[in-house]
This record gives sequence, structure tokens and C-alpha cells, in this order.
Amino acid sequence: MEFFDQLSMPTVLKRRARSNRISLRVNEEGLRINAGKHIPTTEIDKFVLKKTAWINKQWRKYELVMNEDGCLHLGELKPPEFFENNDLESFYRNETKRIIEGLLEIHNENNEYGINKVFIKGQKTRWGSCSSAGNLNFNWRLAMAPTEVIEYVVIHELCHRIEMNHSKEFWRLVQEKCPEFKKHKAWLKRNQSRLSI
Ligand SMILES: [Zn+2]
Repeated sequence: MEFFDQLSMPTVLKRRARSNRISLRVNEEGLRINAGKHIPTTEIDKFVLKKTAWINKQWRKYELVMNEDGCLHLGELKPPEFFENNDLESFYRNETKRIIEGLLEIHNENNEYGINKVFIKGQKTRWGSCSSAGNLNFNWRLAMAPTEVIEYVVIHELCHRIEMNHSKEFWRLVQEKCPEFKKHKAWLKRNQSRLSI
């Protein structure tokens, strides 16, 4: 497979019996590709190569952590130390915007969820929200969270385009796209106090 030569991080391909899609996840262990059993490898190749820029961007954050002192509790991202407070907010705002846009490219390809606009906001009580007009709001502090948690928030808000509530059906949709969502939900709850930073 061509992409194995193109990428610099450890890469695992998992074939899924009950899926007909391809999804990518980058964490500190590298890239994990989940793909339905019947998807031809050429198609996986094409998909992964198309996302190379995004994958490398995500991976760079983890590489950075490995060179650091290892006490980063807020996630992978650490702003430059010379930042003043105001700059800090704009730093996180830009990072959050960049990360969310990358995730939407993957999870809302061709705007299948009918998203209108995406806003980065500073609400003190929520990490994300979705309006009935199809606008998504994300908290600028999200960039402080681990990437898989941000991904969960994006998936959560996208699923609200189908189910505008927290019904059983809603959580089923979330779980389908994000099998470990309970872990990420717990992270957000634990770090709720960060919202007042
Ligand atoms: Zn919700």
C-alpha cells in the first residue's frame, strides 16, 4: 500500500466487518485506519493520501510532546511561553478553528450533515453546540483537549443534525462514529472547570 511509504508515523490498518467506510484517527501511537472489509485497498490508498496533510499536522502535535518535559495535562498543545494573555486566547482560537476544520473535512465530507456556519466562541458552560439552522459552535478552549476528545465533540454536534436531543437513538449514532465516546465524555466532564480559564 502506497501510503505506508508516504507517512512518517506508525500506521495500523484495521479491517471492519460491519462497516463500509474509511475513518482515520491520529493519537500518540500513530495513525489508525479503520476501513470496511470490502473496500478495495486502492480506495483506501487514495483516501489516506488525500488526507496526508491533515494526518501530518495532527501527528506533529504528538511529536512535539515527546520532546517536552511530559507534564502537559491539558492535551498535546502547548502555546509558546512568551505569549501574553490576549495572545493566548487568539492562539487557542486559531488552533481550535484549524483542528475543527480538519475534523469536519473528514466527518462532514461533502457537507452530508448540512452544516451552515461554524463559529468559535467563548461560552463558559459548553464545549460545543448545534443550532436548528445548522450552525455549529465550538469553544475556543477545545484546542487544549486531546485530539480524540475534540473529535468526539465534533461528532456529537454533527449527530445533533440528525437527532436534536440526547435520546437513545442520538447516543447510538454517536457510538457508531465514535466507539469510545464515553471516555471522551468523561474527560470533558472532568475538565469542565477549564472552561472558565
Ligand atoms: Zn448534545
